[in-house]
Amino acid sequence: MSSSTKVDLDGNPIKAMTICMIGAGGFIGSHLCEKLLSTTSHTILAVDVYNDKIKHLLEPESLPWNGRIQFHRINIKHDSRLEGLIKMADLTINLAAICTPADYNTRPLDTIYSNFIDALPVVKYCSENNKRLIHFSTCEIYGKTIGSFLPKDHPLRQDPEFFILKEDVSPCIFGPIEKQRWSYACAKQLIERLIYAEGAENGLEFTIVRPFNWIGPRMDFIPGVDGPSEGVPRVLACFSNNLLRGEPLKLVDGGESQRTFIYIKDAIEAVMLMIENPARANGQIFNVGNPNNEVTVKQLAEMMTEVYSKVSGEPSLESPTIDVSSKEFYGEGYDDSDKRIPDMTIINKQLGWNPKTSLWDLLESTLTYQHTTYAEAVKHAIAKPTSS
Ligand code: NAD
Ligand code: UDP
Repeated sequence: MSSSTKVDLDGNPIKAMTICMIGAGGFIGSHLCEKLLSTTSHTILAVDVYNDKIKHLLEPESLPWNGRIQFHRINIKHDSRLEGLIKMADLTINLAAICTPADYNTRPLDTIYSNFIDALPVVKYCSENNKRLIHFSTCEIYGKTIGSFLPKDHPLRQDPEFFILKEDVSPCIFGPIEKQRWSYACAKQLIERLIYAEGAENGLEFTIVRPFNWIGPRMDFIPGVDGPSEGVPRVLACFSNNLLRGEPLKLVDGGESQRTFIYIKDAIEAVMLMIENPARANGQIFNVGNPNNEVTVKQLAEMMTEVYSKVSGEPSLESPTIDVSSKEFYGEGYDDSDKRIPDMTIINKQLGWNPKTSLWDLLESTLTYQHTTYAEAVKHAIAKPTSS
């Protein structure tokens, strides 16, 4: 073995593999492609309906990884080429989904189809062809914490047993059916159960990833610049948009919900370990998040305001936030996860992985990117009279 041969966590050489990555053109996919191309010799069959976020990796032909990434513009809902690509690959990674909360209660059918029905053939082809699958689920699968059902000042609310989310212990607690917010979590839960059952009954080699609010550059879109003016992306892009436009950040129902945010680059390290250590990752469900970066949404808004002012050199507003009701912001049927702290025991034990980047540092690099990428375009968009 040459000294430059990369080895896995057990000291075995890592063989170059072909990876079919579905949803490769999205936020997580773009970072995963970047990492795989720049640090490994694996080949990517990149499947998506869009490729704007990976254009820099596909062109020009002089790039050092030329030949190791092929883009296939395929809608997995209805394309017979999918099975062929899965057969050609050693590993399939499925990232494709509708995964913005603004869609869950307003487009519940598309949400359920995208997160359950459309993922079925991917699972089936992997199982039938004995191919390994890494499937992206969500932390939202846990729903609400057990503690959220206790009175506000109850002492057990402080007990980690009542809020820490553990892959092999915590229940999945969703609201009633009319709260269509949970259409996403429920669809993701059923596909997780199906994959688990394929593993148990048919020997499918799988890994399930539950991301806890991964954030960073290229997440979602800025409304009216590279996405629809009326579109509602996830919170990082909503708040970035407000900051770029010099308008107050909107706190849904007071911004009391709590989240742990993790830097995309830390999270990608965890996925790389899963890819390259099948013996340790197969059959596992992994939380991937940063338990040290917990804030309320209100605190996130305050920190983003401070960081943005630092990186842009622009003073912040006197009243940087305003409250909006969830009904006004998301419409009928919205509901929320109260608190999301991942337990890290399993990923720590299996892959020895830990997140590194503090919330301040990850916001500083992300908002520097947002400012550099969008400030000029937003100025133009504001200056242009709207046609509607
Ligand atoms: P994203 O929306 O940026 O990426 C999803 C990609 O899938 C998009 O490029 C989209 O075009 C593609 N896609 C969707 N339907 C498709 C279809 N029918 N055919 C082909 N391509 C299709 O989202 P992301 O943040 O990169 O998330 C990736 C995965 O991780 C999703 O499964 C999501 O549920 C999960 N996840 C992400 C987070 C997070 O923090 N970012 C949190 C929880 C779960
Ligand atoms: N949120 C908010 N203002 C916004 C966008 C989102 O207060 O402009 C809140 C939202 O209600 C939720 C949290 O921020 O409590 C995180 O929302 P995100 O869309 O990122 O997804 P989630 O973590 O709920 O899956």
